[in-house]
Amino acid sequence: MAPDQILSPVDGLALRPLPDGRVFLASGGRSIALGGVEPEDLRFVLSHLDGRRTVEEVLAEVADTAEAREAVSNLLVILAERGFVVPVGGPSGRLETPRRAERLTVEEPAGRPSRPATVGIVGGGTAGYLTALALRRAHPEVAVTLIESPDVPIIGVGEATTPLLPQFLHADLGLDVHRLVEEVCPTLKLGIRFEWGTGDGFFYPFGTLDLLAPVVYDGSPDGGSLAALLMAEGALPLVPEGHGVRSGLGTEVAYHLDNRRFAAYLARRAAEAGVEHVSATVDRVELAADRGTEGATRPDVAALHTPDGRRLSYDLYVDCSGFRSLLMGEALGSPFVSHERSLFTDGAVVGAAPHDGPLLPHTVATTREAGWSWRIPQPEGDHLGSVFSSAFTTAERAEEELRAAPGGLGASLGQVRVLRFRPGRRRHFWTGNVVALGNAYGFVEPLESTALHLLIRQILLLVDFLPLPEDPGVHAERQARLDRLVADHWDYVAWFLALHFKFNRRLDTPFWRACREEVDVSRHAELIEAFRERGPLSVRAEGANGSPGAETEFRYPDPLWGPEGIDTLLLGQGVPCPLPEPAEPRKAYRERLGRLRSLARQALPAGEGLRLLAERPELLEAFAESFRRRGPASAALRTRSTARGNSRPPIA
Ligand code: FAD
Repeated sequence: MAPDQILSPVDGLALRPLPDGRVFLASGGRSIALGGVEPEDLRFVLSHLDGRRTVEEVLAEVADTAEAREAVSNLLVILAERGFVVPVGGPSGRLETPRRAERLTVEEPAGRPSRPATVGIVGGGTAGYLTALALRRAHPEVAVTLIESPDVPIIGVGEATTPLLPQFLHADLGLDVHRLVEEVCPTLKLGIRFEWGTGDGFFYPFGTLDLLAPVVYDGSPDGGSLAALLMAEGALPLVPEGHGVRSGLGTEVAYHLDNRRFAAYLARRAAEAGVEHVSATVDRVELAADRGTEGATRPDVAALHTPDGRRLSYDLYVDCSGFRSLLMGEALGSPFVSHERSLFTDGAVVGAAPHDGPLLPHTVATTREAGWSWRIPQPEGDHLGSVFSSAFTTAERAEEELRAAPGGLGASLGQVRVLRFRPGRRRHFWTGNVVALGNAYGFVEPLESTALHLLIRQILLLVDFLPLPEDPGVHAERQARLDRLVADHWDYVAWFLALHFKFNRRLDTPFWRACREEVDVSRHAELIEAFRERGPLSVRAEGANGSPGAETEFRYPDPLWGPEGIDTLLLGQGVPCPLPEPAEPRKAYRERLGRLRSLARQALPAGEGLRLLAERPELLEAFAESFRRRGPASAALRTRSTARGNSRPPIA
């Protein structure tokens, strides 16, 4: 068992052995360190406190000597005196044994009090569990409780990711790659295939791209990276070499994950990492008395109430309750900032189909009549879905179209679910003592697998921000800065997604005509103009026409969707730009492309490659190493692991 593991069996009460032999307890904003008591004894005592038994009954059950009874009784008194909610019931449930056993010592935790000492997370989807794991990893002194409704299911989609996810899971959180592969069975993703724009469509690979030569010489960005060539071959970066296999090849990879398997895996890791789990539906959010006014300081949350009468109180609350946005939206009333003018889709049909052949090493996004559909490879069958605009079609029609899609896969589609969403975000990421993450903060449609990526970025901000500054002025100022930073990032992504809709000329349906005419991309107007006049944006124009490189003119809050991403999208959709003469001569490009293509052709097909990775841990380890080599994405975590000589063992 990990030395910092919480053992507490009581909801909302965190219990953890400290390195100096004492036991740390925290609940509802209070914390103490107890000396002279064994963690397992405490756990045993606390597991008998269920609100139904009296003190005497508990004592009779847990302690068989007078000394032990006294120690336990004193422990309960101390907890009650310190304001802990001690679930003892019955008529003689008052804690009135005054004498203290000598050996039981009580102190405040050593060093500066940590702010916050307790964090309550509402929601047990990907957002809730990733947040819980990151908080425990970066701030082990903080007691983290996750409250998850047994009645409200997780969203059950959210499966295509970006390379930030493996980096975060393995480098930041220290989770073991082998265990994840065993328990979640992800497939590897090298990028996205867009059946989009004019012509055959194009690949949007992860990693660095060299777009100019392929576009000028071949009329397509697809020769711009090895990853794109591997995707074209349906292969993974695994090349047989002599008796061995070379893996990685310098490509960046992400995972495709089954959302439910992934959330269940995270829940198990969270339990091991000492996250308290409360299975309950929060049915009332109690606010602190001084309710703020719109735009001014907002109120704090005082406690969460559950139908069985529990009142759960923490220093900091993280709202991961999904689209409902229970705390940030409903309780605090943070206004919803809509992206509807740029993104017209608002619903999805979601299902799965057995494979029609080999596994793909990428996500496929296909233009549909009033939206688009995805295909996400999973070992047991591809996950399919169609995102649509309810102003232009119905869920029934979107399903019908998906089932009838050319290629045959749709015909074997099982039962589908319909999901509705609103594109947009909350005005506040963090206000008062509440932080909103995941769908509780915002959602933009899933075309570029942005949700988990943005979630991780926000988790890193939260982790970096703690402990909270003591000075309320500094705190407020930093909170406002974070709000702006997060909002800016989300808005940028929404506008980036809007480019996919504005320039797609593949279908001439009412939806796509409306997209071309009405999708609002005005925030990117200058960027689009620069692309048309001096593009591509990722290519330095110096030497071609003497103007400065367009890649330095604009601010791109996320490198994944920076100038190379915009170029791939616009060039892939056939948006014209001047295209300066490439520095690489045509012959040299052809030779280089030939070498890369030959490498891609030798690479193992995705299905075969995944089977090999499952059988040969040393090959998987090469991927694990490449994830770890990127280092933690969080500055806070990086500082900590350096300070500890990188010696911290993985959580799992
Ligand atoms: P949820 O999974 O909905 O979890 C909410 C949790 O809150 C649940 O545990 C629930 O029990 C709990 N809860 C709710 N109310 C209460 C209450 N009163 N008391 C206690 N607990 C409560 N993202 C990607 O990165 N890639 C994709 O490919 C992708 N595809 C998507 C496709 C669609 C159609 C949609 C709609 C989303 C997609 N997403 C994708 C987004 C992604 O699914 C989510 O952003 C991500 O899974 C995070 O969800 P969540 O944890 O915020 O919410």
